[in-house]
Amino acid sequence: MPTLDAILPRLTDEMRADPDWGAVATYIPELAGVDPEQFGISVVLADGTCHSAGDCDTQFSVQSITKVFTLAIALGRSGDQLWERVGREPSGRAFNSIVQLEQEQGRPRNPFINAGAIVTTDEVLGTRAPRDALAEIVQFVRHAAGTDDIHINETVAASENAYGHRNYALAHFLASFGNLLNAPELTLGTYFHHCAIEMTTKQLAMAGRFLVDAPALPRMISPQRIRRLNALMMTCGHYDGSGDFAYRVGLPGKSGVGGGILAIVPNVASIAVWSPGLNRYGNSLKGTKALAILAREMSWSVF
Ligand code: GLU
Repeated sequence: MPTLDAILPRLTDEMRADPDWGAVATYIPELAGVDPEQFGISVVLADGTCHSAGDCDTQFSVQSITKVFTLAIALGRSGDQLWERVGREPSGRAFNSIVQLEQEQGRPRNPFINAGAIVTTDEVLGTRAPRDALAEIVQFVRHAAGTDDIHINETVAASENAYGHRNYALAHFLASFGNLLNAPELTLGTYFHHCAIEMTTKQLAMAGRFLVDAPALPRMISPQRIRRLNALMMTCGHYDGSGDFAYRVGLPGKSGVGGGILAIVPNVASIAVWSPGLNRYGNSLKGTKALAILAREMSWSVF
């Protein structure tokens, strides 16, 4: 089998040579200015070694990938009680869809669509001040990644807040069903800030180690919870593109609108890929392509 140190630079060259970079998200104005022609990839193996290529040292907005970390924290704080407020089913709808929320009486389909992540954030917030909840989230991510050089980009958070009409609509809708503990602006302030965490692919692949379940990697949650988080990433991690991602890549993954994807090969590896241009589902175009190739070449699949 070819080694990662041979595959990753070749994959990067292949991705850079492909002229179709996709389109960056524009609904968060601060992200609209990101140069789409960037590609980075990092893989941390079960032995702890990290292999990278391309723009792997450039920090980017991880956005919805933080939903995996906030879900882990929410489950740690509240256990299975969380599932009274949010479901575990794929939505088959866009990340910011509101229509199912009415059908499901204010209980979002899963914790990875925006409505579900707003509920999860609200659970993590509890009765605390947003700054305390954010400190816990950032600390969790730093601990997972093994570095303190991970921060929230305040400008991105403010930009999303200023144009966050859809998320405000979702939060008010949740509140109308009694499914928010806090005022919508408090929960959303916390949500926008954790989405605005920035990481490099190296840092993100390191942060994903706690989902791999390997003896040499840090253990932060129980093996059963690792399997369950991976199951949700597999079924719900790419919004209405989750089925397509499972078909093409065959690994649990979570995407963010900043163009990052965290994918897990259970017991084997944590992979982070980043390219800001998105496909029609709002998931990284080249990130998905690259993961499909890497998974095939390494024979990595959960199936
Ligand atoms: N903060 C973004 C939003 O709420 C996250 C969406 C994403 O990354 O897919 O719209």
